[in-house]
Amino acid sequence: MTKVQVVIIGGGAMGVSLMYHLIKSGWSDVLLVEKNDLTHGSTWHAAGLCTHFAHNPTIQELRATSVRLYRDILPQETGRDCGFHRSGAMRITRNPDRMDEFRHVSGLSDFTGYPLEILTPERIAELHPLAKLEGLIGGIYEPDDGHVDPTLATQAMAGVARAGGAQIWRNCPVQSIRQEAGHWLIETPKGTVTTVHVVNAAGTWGWEIGHMMGLNIPSVPVLHQYLVTDTVEVVADRIAQGLPELPIIRDPEESWYVRQERDGLILGPYEKDAKVWSVDGVPPEFGADLMPPDLDSVEHIIAAAMDRIPALGTGGVKSVINGPITFTPDANPLIGPAHGLRNAWLLTGSSMGVMEGGGAGWFLAYWMTHGAPPMDALAVDSRRFGAWADRDYRVAKAIECFGRQFGVHYPHEERAVGRDLRLSPLHDLMTERGAVMGAAYGWERPNWFTDAPGVKADETFRRANWFEPVAREVEAASTRVAMADLSVFSKFDVMGSQVSAFLEVVGANHAPKPERIGLTHALTHDGGVLSEFTVTRLAKDHAYLTSAAASEEIDFDLLNRSAERFNLSIRNVSEELAVIGVMGPRSPDVLPELADMPWLTAQQTELAGIPVRALRLSYIGECGWELHVAKEHAVPLFTWLEQAAKPHGLGYFGAYAANSMRLEKGYRGWGSDLTTERSPLETGMHPFVREELRPKLARENLWEMVLLEIEAGEIDPFYSHGLWQGGRPVGIVTSGAFGHRTGKVLALAYLRDTTAREDLTVSILGQHREAVILPRPPYDPENKRLKSGTRT
Ligand SMILES: Cc1cc2nc3c(=O)[nH]c(=O)nc-3n(C[C@H](O)[C@H](O)[C@H](O)COP(=O)(O)OP(=O)(O)OC[C@H]3O[C@@H](n4cnc5c(N)ncnc54)[C@H](O)[C@@H]3O)c2cc1C
Repeated sequence: MTKVQVVIIGGGAMGVSLMYHLIKSGWSDVLLVEKNDLTHGSTWHAAGLCTHFAHNPTIQELRATSVRLYRDILPQETGRDCGFHRSGAMRITRNPDRMDEFRHVSGLSDFTGYPLEILTPERIAELHPLAKLEGLIGGIYEPDDGHVDPTLATQAMAGVARAGGAQIWRNCPVQSIRQEAGHWLIETPKGTVTTVHVVNAAGTWGWEIGHMMGLNIPSVPVLHQYLVTDTVEVVADRIAQGLPELPIIRDPEESWYVRQERDGLILGPYEKDAKVWSVDGVPPEFGADLMPPDLDSVEHIIAAAMDRIPALGTGGVKSVINGPITFTPDANPLIGPAHGLRNAWLLTGSSMGVMEGGGAGWFLAYWMTHGAPPMDALAVDSRRFGAWADRDYRVAKAIECFGRQFGVHYPHEERAVGRDLRLSPLHDLMTERGAVMGAAYGWERPNWFTDAPGVKADETFRRANWFEPVAREVEAASTRVAMADLSVFSKFDVMGSQVSAFLEVVGANHAPKPERIGLTHALTHDGGVLSEFTVTRLAKDHAYLTSAAASEEIDFDLLNRSAERFNLSIRNVSEELAVIGVMGPRSPDVLPELADMPWLTAQQTELAGIPVRALRLSYIGECGWELHVAKEHAVPLFTWLEQAAKPHGLGYFGAYAANSMRLEKGYRGWGSDLTTERSPLETGMHPFVREELRPKLARENLWEMVLLEIEAGEIDPFYSHGLWQGGRPVGIVTSGAFGHRTGKVLALAYLRDTTAREDLTVSILGQHREAVILPRPPYDPENKRLKSGTRT
């Protein structure tokens, strides 16, 4: 029997990149098993486009890493080039919102060091003389983008990995996968392999290999095609004149990309009603195959592309490539540990597996060898979709993502497809009260409240139609009493006599005493924030942990792993309990029986005869309670509380108001402000870190999180805006909003250069606005409101 440390299943761009990076990280005992030959999945027929354009720094770094690898590193290592053409790329538009999006991405790129250029129509004409300008208002240029030969790049990575000791078994389909005595057993026609780690990098077949691992992977094959033209005379002329290659051009409004291919062009359309393919299992005989061309379904997109680039119509179609491409429900890849399994990893579901493959392999290799990802993983974490992401959801979202491949990504974007999956017991009641719902990891969650039934949130980068309603919600919460449905929290019950010791292993803070509430952060080996838990010690042997909706699977894994050497029971009660927020200065009048509870204490009590876990805390900085209650009692308790609150000026608040209010308190949010990249010392969470851990978290080049007041303007900050000192980007905004109680525009930002404290500006969609570091939160810095509990 063969024994290795890692088996990677799948020899496409993603799996081979992981093999290469594991070898580079010093793991030599690596075996890649491939059912056909390397690249014989989706990789061989990819158009090879590589970009730096991304809304998220992690996704951008995956893409930039791929470019560096294909363009510079592999040619140096192997002496052969990977067919990388640094053609540059541009996106063009007629849509003002799109220009906002371009300015936003450009702002992020200034900070990350991959600068992009905002284009005028004249500059578009200069860079792409074949494009007509009618209707265009501008664009964005990505000078370091290009395209690669996916086969050459994959073979180059494989060659280096093999020279470093990796093994590749070709023509060797994995037949089954099982776990035995702490190892994985992989059955293949060449025999059984015993391995410590197994990685699913099976691309189009990711779902099948996932099935063998006991998983239901949310990745769906969708058919995508591009056509290659014969010689296009103007292109041939340009080559004859020694002119540079044309930049790749994308028209997101019309949903197509065009790039030069030798003396012709490639045109790739993304239709709105994409065809999913073999959702319940790819036929076993399917290999390096293509589908027949289907140009009828994309005729309208081809026509639009020809209008913009008339030269396209002069070439004639040489070939059509139509093949499967996988889509996850958010179009990002699945990278990281498989939920609930030990030493099982996913590196699959990428719909951009060439441009992301080089970086994705680096990302996962780092995670496997260091025990934590190299950057914030939330956008790609393999555990971000739970069991709620059922077949219908996955299929509908794959079609939606394909059709919106080029959609505008608004900061508060809410998509219509795949909704109403996880409903709080208070859902209907909330919509009756005017809640406008948003999707949060399968849950429906009130974002804001309207008195105009059926109204939807504006899609915009600027102030939206919910600004005034949110102001009213904040007014109720800060002057009277407001209620909220906060049920989307992830929730865990931890029971056993060793709870205290366990909590100190899980997080950096001390365990709270019985009936007290604390905050603790689970850390990576390097001190980055993995998770944030509110810990309520309901009894000596019972801790109740709540955390973000998005981290349910991540946190359940983390708690179970930490519990291995303890005798404890851990239950995920996220769906069993609802959470009602009652907050504001009049809330003690609504809850006279709890009015004497001090801040940050908990009681198991009864209200209206209903058993309740009452937590005296508030993320919005007001006197208030979270009432955690069995889901079947949620509606009676809520309506009973409403009756009690009406004489005191009852209002409601949603997630947008909560976000605005928590920023006025300077509270950091997990997933945006708190990530694995930064330690609690960098985020200003010192009080929540045990004394003895602090020296371990100290290191050189620490960043520092600061709360900024930004000069008022017509656009409120949201995330990923560059913070500048003079002409130098010195930091990045991670979250922001208008603070209605203080009238201030606020943002949390990391200073990369912690000496840069004066003369700061934040670049919001290209507008530089003055910013001042606030030494204290602007709202109730002494927590008087939080601590006040007297009835009026
Ligand atoms: C027409 C088209 C154009 C595209 N253009 C681009 C582009 O320009 N840029 C870009 O970034 N992406 C592009 N893509 C997407 C890109 O092709 C994929 O995202 C990428 O190739 C995925 O790589 P992968 O390694 O994850 O999967 P794959 O390349 O599919 O590799 C998976 C491998 O797993 C193997 N395998 C499956 N089952 C088993 C088993 N049981 N045992 C062993 N091995 C197994 C398969 O044989 C295969 O080799 C395009 C896709 C299409 C269809």
